[in-house]
Amino acid sequence: MGMNVRFWGSRGSLPTSCSAATIRAKLLRALELVGERSLATAEERQRFIDELPFAVAGGFGTNTSCVEVASGEERLILDAGTGLRDLGGSPEAGRHPATFHLLLSHPHWDHIQGFPFFMPAYRPGNRIIIHGCHPRLSEVFTNQQKMPSFPVPLAAMAAEIEFVQLEPDEEYTINGFTVTPMRLNHPGDSYAFRIRRQGRTMVYATDGEHKENGDSKGYPFVDFCKGADLLIFDAQYSLRDALVDKENWGHSSNLVGVELAVISEVRRLCLFHSEHTGDDEGLARFLADTRKYAEIYGQGLLEVELAYDGLLMEF
Ligand SMILES: [Zn+2]
Ligand SMILES: [Zn+2]
Repeated sequence: MGMNVRFWGSRGSLPTSCSAATIRAKLLRALELVGERSLATAEERQRFIDELPFAVAGGFGTNTSCVEVASGEERLILDAGTGLRDLGGSPEAGRHPATFHLLLSHPHWDHIQGFPFFMPAYRPGNRIIIHGCHPRLSEVFTNQQKMPSFPVPLAAMAAEIEFVQLEPDEEYTINGFTVTPMRLNHPGDSYAFRIRRQGRTMVYATDGEHKENGDSKGYPFVDFCKGADLLIFDAQYSLRDALVDKENWGHSSNLVGVELAVISEVRRLCLFHSEHTGDDEGLARFLADTRKYAEIYGQGLLEVELAYDGLLMEF
């Protein structure tokens, strides 16, 4: 039994739009690529779409942070960004009665704003347990749904909602997973989670600015990630953004992600918390550039992905 990780939202700071103009541009690009080939049958059309670049036939999605981790029947939800609304509509989330364990990296808007739209929270008999290292998380969730900002107060959600305070660097068992939080450098702090179950290990490390890179021996984050099968890493910025324009904004670059993953002997790196202004072509280039760097820096041992809404990773 392995681990499945499904991305429901992977944008940073703010949801991203997908306007009519964006879709029209993708359609035009696709039609340009038809060339002489026949699209007469359903199979030919399907194959043509499958062969198009991902940025043309698909896209990196619009929702803010929400990731579902499953191992057998057990699940964890990481963050409650707008992706949580879509997770709430999935068949698994529709089972009733159910208990949901939500781990919160930090209470910035983009990590909590999906919660008022999480339909299972409105069903009596469901139980939602929100785990996090920040104090007073119940106030954070209550205040988000106070008038005049939102019409339905938290107390009106019919599920039982509980809050559990975690301490960094302590090990917990949550719904059958072994979970260790670690503080990250971010305005107001964010916490990464190392999650283990049945010999599989993943690290969810979003919203963190790493001043160290692969040359830094003894950096605690390297130990924290050591040997993980998957590292989900805040790579909102390019190297230039991270070092010059947006230093101290609390996020990291793709290149620092590669270096830390390689020195930590991580098998797969998933770039996450993508820049909300980034278009699909730009993000596809960002991924291609990161893969080139990983090829050189990691001698081909590190696999790199860029998260998108709907991506499923199994290991
Ligand atoms: Zn964020
Ligand atoms: Zn943040």
